[in-house]
Amino acid sequence: MLDGSSLIGGQSVRGEDLFQAVDPSTGQLIAPEFAGVGAAEVARACALADEAFHSYRETDPETRARFLETIADNIEALGDTLIERVMAESGLPRARLEGERGRTCGQLRLFASVVRSGDWLGVRVDTALPERKPLPRPDIRLRKIAIGPVAVFGASNFPLAFSVAGGDTGSALAAGCPVVVKGHPAHPGTGELVGRAIRDAVKACGLHEGVFSLLQGTTTALGGGLVADPRIKAVGFTGSRGGGLALVKIAAERAEPIPVYAEMSSVNPVVLFPAALAARAEALAEGFVGSLTMGAGQFCTNPGILLALEGPDLDSFVEVATRTLTPLAPSTMLTPGIHSAYEKGVDAFAQHHGVETLARGAESSGPHCARGALFATTAAEFVADPALSHEVFGSSSILVRCKDMAEVAKVLEGLEGQLTATLQMDEADVELARPLLPILEQRAGRVLANGWPTGVEVSHAMVHGGPYPATSDGRTTSVGTLAIERFLRPVSYQNLPDALLPQALKAANPLGVQRLIDGKTELGTR
Ligand code: NAP
Repeated sequence: MLDGSSLIGGQSVRGEDLFQAVDPSTGQLIAPEFAGVGAAEVARACALADEAFHSYRETDPETRARFLETIADNIEALGDTLIERVMAESGLPRARLEGERGRTCGQLRLFASVVRSGDWLGVRVDTALPERKPLPRPDIRLRKIAIGPVAVFGASNFPLAFSVAGGDTGSALAAGCPVVVKGHPAHPGTGELVGRAIRDAVKACGLHEGVFSLLQGTTTALGGGLVADPRIKAVGFTGSRGGGLALVKIAAERAEPIPVYAEMSSVNPVVLFPAALAARAEALAEGFVGSLTMGAGQFCTNPGILLALEGPDLDSFVEVATRTLTPLAPSTMLTPGIHSAYEKGVDAFAQHHGVETLARGAESSGPHCARGALFATTAAEFVADPALSHEVFGSSSILVRCKDMAEVAKVLEGLEGQLTATLQMDEADVELARPLLPILEQRAGRVLANGWPTGVEVSHAMVHGGPYPATSDGRTTSVGTLAIERFLRPVSYQNLPDALLPQALKAANPLGVQRLIDGKTELGTR
């Protein structure tokens, strides 16, 4: 049974910020009443995380990996109780949420395998050269260590995979960092269930209770206070640009500024190349509408901008896309706030003098339901008004009609940073695509061909990041195993006696990890 608490270490705690989740499909409040916490609980959770840090960061790889796997096991053991609660709090359908649960547990287990491999330690050894002239070289050994307690802000649009036990939490725990989560107030019951699964795993694995806390609440003071707490050493965030930037500012103004890894807004341009359009306009249009409207378009990788050359093939694409989108039933959005922001954004496009409304989805009947929207404009209008390139979170997209590839390049050059950029192309388009690649790799974290940007593989080579405002730090990713790097810091040990060196750096390599010895890779035995 949920009791509407926050989890501070092993304790369930209630505060004074009373709130309830809303079922967006009915507009009804859902029991129980949550009692969000305040400054005293932030301080307590951070103090516990700080206490836990020193033992947790030095847990052996097997213990830490087992911990991540136990969290995944515990989440799965929640069964339908979890799925039904997320459905009620998010309006998302069962199949999508069962898939998301699989992804959440899969990424925790993937991080467990990363921890076991030891590759994340990034061991490098420069052996001493005592005879080197004019000066001898000392023995220098490097490993990466955990950065410290991490604050995580769960996202509303992935209540499992980007929330309490999502990628930010998984990567921080894998790195050896205790985590304090600020739960998203749109799905507090989901948060409490998953939080308990983590708390139980902490206990079962014999870890310090401060390794994990979950703070529930609705005030910006709660999240702001968490980021400002001097014991927090990094922040992971997914949400709005305004929210992310507010946290970046708080972090930068601390006596000790800290990194904030905020994933914020992206419109994910898709270029429809001429040969691809000529060969398969209909399939492209159907694929596009599927990607646009999936999950009510509430994906950070939703295709918000299409670029193509004017002509009969583009007309065919528009005709099929319009025909496919128009009868589509509207979908419930995640929260009343996200729904009203979507309506506002779509209205602004519809009323824009330089924008044509090509298609809207079917009329909506239920509360917080959003109709898909497809708009069109010219490259000249698009370039003239930066507002046309801003994210409308939901199933809204704008087609930018271009006269030639130079206009396509100009539009792409003017875009802000993106999570993705997509090329829909055939063999005959290769030479047209080639000059765009240097532009696209400067703008986006992931460049893909002949797919749709929605659907982000959790793997070793994935980058789910990109230049601002896609994220606040484009050097990294929030999805995939490279995400662990955000919460690690390299330390060199110069001329330390073997007895004092950490396990990973000892001459005998007792952990059997892969190491770069004098610039050459020495394979590990793990
Ligand atoms: P949000 O409003 O940015 O909130 C995300 C989290 O950050 C919540 O826990 C929120 O807590 C906290 N927060 C926001 N502003 C804060 C501040 N100034 N100080 C302290 N904490 C703050 O995002 P959302 O509610 O999920 O969705 C709103 C909009 O975000 C959407 O319409 C969409 O534009 C965008 N969004 C983008 C993505 C993406 O993947 N890029 C994903 C989801 C949403 P409180 O609510 O308790 O303040």
